[in-house]
This record gives sequence, structure tokens and C-alpha cells, in this order.
Amino acid sequence: MAIDISDILSCENKEVVERVQVGYRSFSFELGDFPITEAAPIALRIANCENKRLLISGQGELTVSVPCGRCLTEVLTEISFQIDRELRITEDGIKDGDLDEAAYLNGVYLDADRLIYEEILMNWPMNVLCKDDCKGICKVCGQNLNRGDCDCQKTEPDPRMAAIQDIFNQYKEV
Ligand SMILES: [Zn+2]
Ligand SMILES: [Zn+2]
Repeated sequence: MAIDISDILSCENKEVVERVQVGYRSFSFELGDFPITEAAPIALRIANCENKRLLISGQGELTVSVPCGRCLTEVLTEISFQIDRELRITEDGIKDGDLDEAAYLNGVYLDADRLIYEEILMNWPMNVLCKDDCKGICKVCGQNLNRGDCDCQKTEPDPRMAAIQDIFNQYKEV
């Protein structure tokens, strides 16, 4: 969704509140493609304040489906973020700090989807687990160990036993 902010830019102390809906059904980035199952509309406040500052603010909340880091079960995960951007209005465009024009601005158009995308990316949940003590999946047969043990574990050598075995072997060599 592109919001024309030319009126706001030309008038000091003018502010508008735009109701913005997240414009995509899933969130894609280098880690994959994650369905957005719920997204509340965001009241995006855009204000031209004294000293040539453009303030963009709002509160966002959405739910994404992210696989558990251990067993890959989909986990509905809430992401909330606070948009709080301060830009400078200059003769040759709107500047984000000392940088060039912000990526979510295209002349007098504010690309709300892009702005929200950046916010979601910055607030992306790390280490999502279906539960704190998730047992993961068996590396041999792929069984989800939360649903019960598999047979592979019984035949796999216990690492502690393997260490004791090493010690015995060392003595044999001496
Ligand atoms: Zn899990
Ligand atoms: Zn197994």
C-alpha cells in the first residue's frame, strides 16, 4: 500500500492516521517463507513536526506460523512491533538520519508494506520451540520423539559408554 504524503510534507504540524493492513499472506526472507495467519490493522501516524522532522509511528501485531527449531512442528508465533521512525525533510528529499532516502519512501509515496516488512524482519523471533523441553526428532528414522521413543535409540551407543570403551581400549594397547 502506497500512501501519498505530499500534503503532509507541505504543511508543518499536519498529521494523518492511516489504517494500514499487512499487504501479504506470508513473510519471505532468507530463512524461508512463513504464512501469516493473523494480522491486526495498523494505525500508522504520519506527522510533520517542527524543525522539519517527519515522524512515522504505529503499533503492529501479527501471528506467523514458524516451524519448531527441534521437531519442525508448526508453531503459531506472535510478533509485535513498535514503529517509531524519525526522518528529516530536506530540500532534496526525505532523509533517514545521514543516509539517503529510506527504502520505504519513493518520492512523496510511503510504501507501508516495505516499512512493515522491515519491522517484522527486525522483530523476527529467534529459537522458536513448540515447548521448552521439546525432544526433537530422531536423526536416524525421523520420528518425532515428543510422540514417543523410536527403536533406533536402543541400538545407538550411549556416548558415556563409548567414552568408557575408549579408556579400556587404551589400557589394552599399553
Ligand atoms: Zn518441537
Ligand atoms: Zn529413530
